[in-house]
Amino acid sequence: MAVILKGMEVANAMKEGLMAENEALVAKGTTPCLAIVRVGERPDDLAYERGALKRFEGLGIATKVSVFPEDVAQSDFETGFKEINDDSAVHGILLFRPLPKHLDEDAILKIIDPEKDMDGMCDTNIAKVFAGDESGYAPCTPEGVIELLKHFDVPLKGAKVALVGRSMVVGKPLAMLLLKENATITICHTRTKDLAAECRAADILIAAAGAAKMIKAEHVKEGAVVIDVGINVDEEGNLCGDVDFETVEPLASMITPVPGGVGSVTTSMLAKHVLTAAAK
Ligand code: NDP
Repeated sequence: MAVILKGMEVANAMKEGLMAENEALVAKGTTPCLAIVRVGERPDDLAYERGALKRFEGLGIATKVSVFPEDVAQSDFETGFKEINDDSAVHGILLFRPLPKHLDEDAILKIIDPEKDMDGMCDTNIAKVFAGDESGYAPCTPEGVIELLKHFDVPLKGAKVALVGRSMVVGKPLAMLLLKENATITICHTRTKDLAAECRAADILIAAAGAAKMIKAEHVKEGAVVIDVGINVDEEGNLCGDVDFETVEPLASMITPVPGGVGSVTTSMLAKHVLTAAAK
């Protein structure tokens, strides 16, 4: 039976420190504040927003939500976004992506102040992640994975990690953060020749593919630690990860559930970033 790595356990461990940091900043006259910027009403954006607002409320950290209509014109969105970006009462911004197709996302990523870019989206922060420079903001999900692994004392130094997924949101930055921890990483994707063999060679298998239950028993070495970043909906309409939990769990030594795994740590990382930005 694998140990189930629950994200809430990590979030709860972080809670006290984050609350104390927030209170200290407020006492000094700075009220940390996150601005959430959403275009339209995508269900996954709304789900993440609800989770973030609940977490921030629990920590006592201020939030404000700015919603733009789905069909907002580029110029109107840029004007509205600049206003939020220039607001000195806003310390951090979370922009939901992808934006609707008619909007130029790159233009917005050029506008956002790197010091307010809480999910490490802009070039400055991405470059810092790749350079191993901790003065920027890494994307919250990959950072949450590292936090979770460290919380549960999973050794990273010298560990063989197979990472399925090479996106700029999860896979690539996570590979860089793992490299910084001295892990040896194999990055897999849709053109990887023998995915099962690459995954089976790993002490730690991380799935960030966005493909429901694609990681089966054949991908997992006995005793491996399995981290599931995926958030998908299965044929029955239920939330599920990239890992076929039923068949993989008996083989793994530790495994994250979906929901209740990595996702629960992500909003705590976001809160940590906002407090860091406010302290600066
Ligand atoms: P993308 O679709 O941008 O990237 C998916 C990556 O996985 C690609 O590199 C793709 O390869 C690879 N991939 C997809 N299918 C397969 C397959 N069958 N075999 C091998 N590789 C495959 O997704 P994201 O990185 O944005 O997100 C990944 C997952 O993580 C999603 O389920 C998303 O919902 C979830 N997520 C979870 C978060 C959380 O807080 N828990 C936050 C952000 C995302 P290729 O490059 O060759 O196409």
